[in-house]
Amino acid sequence: MRDSEPRLEGAAGASGSPSPQPEVVPNAERGPRYDDEPERSEDLREVRAGDVTIVVARYAGYCYGVERALRITEEAIEGAEKPVATLGPIIHNPTVVGQLAERGVDVVDDPEKADSGTLIVRTHGVAPSIVGGARSRSINVVDATCPFVAVAQRKAAALREAGYAVVILGERDHPEVAGLEGFAGEGAVVVEEAGGLPVERLRGKRVGVVVQTTQTQANLASVAAALAPVARELLVYNTICDATEKRQNAACELGAEVDVVVVVGGRNSANTARLAQLCRAIESRTYHIESAAELEAGWLTGARRIGVTAGASTPDAEIDATVRALQELCDR
Ligand code: SF4
Repeated sequence: MRDSEPRLEGAAGASGSPSPQPEVVPNAERGPRYDDEPERSEDLREVRAGDVTIVVARYAGYCYGVERALRITEEAIEGAEKPVATLGPIIHNPTVVGQLAERGVDVVDDPEKADSGTLIVRTHGVAPSIVGGARSRSINVVDATCPFVAVAQRKAAALREAGYAVVILGERDHPEVAGLEGFAGEGAVVVEEAGGLPVERLRGKRVGVVVQTTQTQANLASVAAALAPVARELLVYNTICDATEKRQNAACELGAEVDVVVVVGGRNSANTARLAQLCRAIESRTYHIESAAELEAGWLTGARRIGVTAGASTPDAEIDATVRALQELCDR
């Protein structure tokens, strides 16, 4: 199936047919694979420090989309029209954003404030009107929207063009969702969970669903199940990216096998905070730090195995620095 086409054939049954079932287009059919990122090799994951073993999660740190956005930003610093700015912080990591600022990359929150040079769109993407507005002012727009977010954007636009009532499952205030709304057009409904669905408004309609890439499969399943008996026809595009799920599963595995967990990443990074929350539910001795300098020896008392994990916006250098700092604390 081409990404730009809604899948109309075989969608859920017409009004009056018994229990129409949603057609969920699974991850495997979405085209590009999400497995570009290798699992951390085992020999790099375990480090000894005296009697203590420091274990890094199987998946931790930069995801494909973040790595790509930073590569695009580097290319813009090298060759694009100056000044270079990002529309919002390029990633939720203050260290990286600070380093880019030192190299002349500004952060603008309002696209109207960029009046010359290059504007980089981050992984979350933006509504097409924002890109169009900037280009009409002769701004050089560099699009670092994650390709997996771009798939969700294309699905939203295709559903709108095909006349579906579009439902976006995602966090109402998240920039990725604001961008998706721009593609889905006026009248699109944003819901955070099944309980938020405007059921009467959608009853008897052809309903199409796209999903913020960081949502959980369980939340999508419950929204699809709630819509199935309501919609005349239901088409669900599963646009969830499994980078988040991989990091969460690996963090939970880690939490279950260590005495202390250190989660590294920006405090304003929702996915890092979520890793800390998941780990804390399994291992109460879980600490969320932004940098290795925050580590405290007292956290490690009596620990034989210490786990380290990191959100999708945490550089490898920060993970390595944390492991080295833990080794030094354990060797004291
Ligand atoms: Fe892209 Fe997935 Fe990373 Fe988001 S979490 S930037 S969708 S690879």
